[in-house]
Amino acid sequence: FQIVDSSFVAGAGSLASLPPPVSAEVAFAGRSNVGKSSLINTLVERKGLVRTSSNPGSTRQINLYEARARDGAVFQLVDLPGYGFTRRSKSEQAAWASLIEGYLRGRVTLAAVLLLVDARRGLEEDDLELIRFIEASRDVARRPVELLLVATKVDKVQRSSVRRALDQLSAAAPRMAGGGLRRAIGFSSITGEGRRDLWLAIRRVTQL
Ligand code: GDP
Repeated sequence: FQIVDSSFVAGAGSLASLPPPVSAEVAFAGRSNVGKSSLINTLVERKGLVRTSSNPGSTRQINLYEARARDGAVFQLVDLPGYGFTRRSKSEQAAWASLIEGYLRGRVTLAAVLLLVDARRGLEEDDLELIRFIEASRDVARRPVELLLVATKVDKVQRSSVRRALDQLSAAAPRMAGGGLRRAIGFSSITGEGRRDLWLAIRRVTQL
């Protein structure tokens, strides 16, 4: 999948400052340090589009990027602030939650959430909470939001264990009312493994 162009659109620290919805969006969520910035950069083949942070959790806003494929299809890639950063105060955590939840619940163009999970760690409580939240907000959403699981850093898992790690991840996710999660996609921003599968999934969910 050739991406011919990608660019930063806007960063929003509050719901009010989000840019107006224009085209289908896929949002990337996950714990800080899961490899989210690296994954988005790998997807669009631009090393520096999303700044990878050495200070995990330092990004506290929703960042939107636009990617255009060779065939003209346009997507918004939405980088949600990472969670599970314990050094945050209660009020910061509450602000984070209301920003993400407000976005997930109210964004009319949101087609899918890609939940990134470290292939070596599996689903953690924060991830399960996000899954439950998306499930709970289905009724009020104007269109159903798909949820895709992505296992990051699969290059760190022994080849022979990748399949088992993906099986475990897929099985650990609670079943969704809308027919259940599909199988987790393995991804590595070092080897590029999974890039094509991820684009196929993104194309599928944004064409619904
Ligand atoms: P973010 O906080 O979720 O945006 O994570 P980053 O993309 O900044 O990555 C966090 C750390 O994991 C960095 O040190 C990256 O170099 C490393 N990393 C990211 N993706 C991969 C990957 O696919 N494989 C390996 N081995 N390391 C990765």
